[in-house]
Amino acid sequence: MSPPACAQEIKTDEHPLEIAATIHPVADIVRQIGGELVHVTILISQGANPHTFEFAPDVIKKVEHTQLIFRVGFGYDDWLEGVYDFAPAAKIITAGEGVELIKTGTVDPHYWLSVSNARTIAQNVAAHLVQIDSKHQTEYENRLKQYLEILNQLDLELHAQLDSFKGNRMVTIHDAFRYFARDYGLTILDSLEPSHGGELSPNHLANLSKSVKQAEIDALFTQRNFLPQSAATFAQDLNLKMYELDELGGGEGRESFVELLRYNASVIKKALNESMKN
Ligand SMILES: [Zn+2]
Repeated sequence: MSPPACAQEIKTDEHPLEIAATIHPVADIVRQIGGELVHVTILISQGANPHTFEFAPDVIKKVEHTQLIFRVGFGYDDWLEGVYDFAPAAKIITAGEGVELIKTGTVDPHYWLSVSNARTIAQNVAAHLVQIDSKHQTEYENRLKQYLEILNQLDLELHAQLDSFKGNRMVTIHDAFRYFARDYGLTILDSLEPSHGGELSPNHLANLSKSVKQAEIDALFTQRNFLPQSAATFAQDLNLKMYELDELGGGEGRESFVELLRYNASVIKKALNESMKN
């Protein structure tokens, strides 16, 4: 199933505009740019694994009148394809169109976990809102300008927190933080999960265990709602302290994109700090 070739005529005289996004951080960016002019629905259920998510029937009701759906794309939210037929008026947009993608065999879809990529997402969102609602072009563009300034401040703040850890190596359970690491000069040595949403392979864990010892790594970055028993055992055997990152946000104190990145930066800073003390 592919997106409708030609989106239906969109009524722009009615506000708020109905917009949807598959994940929280992108939905927040749409809210920041659209303000009162948009109503944003998040399609993924709270706490669900985005890589293996299957949409529930209530999603269909949510998208019936949606004009734009912002997806992550690159295999991340393919489950959305099943929703297209129920969103006859919707234009499907890949939020990160134009970002520089990291390829590790396949495209790493976690590009939103980067302040510089969030700039591109915000610009894309503004352009698409203007396209369907040109009457409010000035509002969208002003909000974009303000938001880009907020992102610049956030980037400076995160650099101030993390620049002293440049070159540090990290091991993660799930491979979601390569864009973040790239932005702040950190290195992801490897990840326990060889493919997204896949089982942890005993062979891979055995090899990884060697490189973790060699690199004298003493932290393992886990993720919210995702700690397979084999990963916990791996950490225990190698005496790794666990620190929990979050790729999706949406929880308390991580509702906005800015809060989500601040949270992850503070977890990484804490872990690397403690690791240096050893
Ligand atoms: Zn992920």
